[in-house]
Amino acid sequence: MKIIDTHSHIYSEEFDNDLPDVINRAKQAGVEKILLPNIDIESLDRLHAVADRYDGYCIPMMGLHPTSVKEDYMHQLEVTREQLDKRKYIAIGEIGIDLYWDKTFEKEQRYAFEEQLRWSIEFDLPVAIHSRDAIAECVECIKNVGAEKLRGVFHSFGGTETELRDILDLKNFLLGINGVVTFKNSTLPTVLQETDLSHIIIETDSPYLAPVPYRGKRNESSYTVNVVERLAGKYNISPEKVGEITTKNAKDLFSLDY
Ligand SMILES: [Zn+2]
Repeated sequence: MKIIDTHSHIYSEEFDNDLPDVINRAKQAGVEKILLPNIDIESLDRLHAVADRYDGYCIPMMGLHPTSVKEDYMHQLEVTREQLDKRKYIAIGEIGIDLYWDKTFEKEQRYAFEEQLRWSIEFDLPVAIHSRDAIAECVECIKNVGAEKLRGVFHSFGGTETELRDILDLKNFLLGINGVVTFKNSTLPTVLQETDLSHIIIETDSPYLAPVPYRGKRNESSYTVNVVERLAGKYNISPEKVGEITTKNAKDLFSLDY
């Protein structure tokens, strides 16, 4: 089985005690690469430490997460932007809008998102988008900056059929699917009927959103196998084929070597 975990916070403290074991299990499960989205300036050291330790296997992104857009967002953006001149990143991420937790900084979140979308054009990088209760807002920002110049993924996609179509209408955007698709009451499998595997990449969002039968526990990259198997059942093809197609999608989006 071939899999790429396109969204994992494996550098967070939840993995401090057993990261080498987690990486070994990922490799044994067939996970070829793990992509690491940044959160904010607090997470930089941890992100870079894991990316350096597993160079070429754990690959970092750079961006400012919408829930970290607060009073000091201009400073946060400035420091985040400086990183892009210092080393190579696979994508701008994670960036976006989150109106689920807090709407106080909605205006600032929109500004930070559009600013970082412009960086992705400047550096010719894809974007990893976090949108919670805000797919329409994110789509609007993408159109403001220029949908045809942008490419990326709506990570942890959990929207409606209409939202799915709005994302696919942007042309260059994929859906990041994780453990949520295995949850008993999830509407995601039904919504995904509207599309096929050519628009899907696999992720964990570790340490969150572990798939059944690990639901509620710490998530890790090897559990992507359960997500792949669920999609295989849904689209009625082999897990190997799901792995192959979604790995190719991820490699194309993130310009990874074959
Ligand atoms: Zn994330």
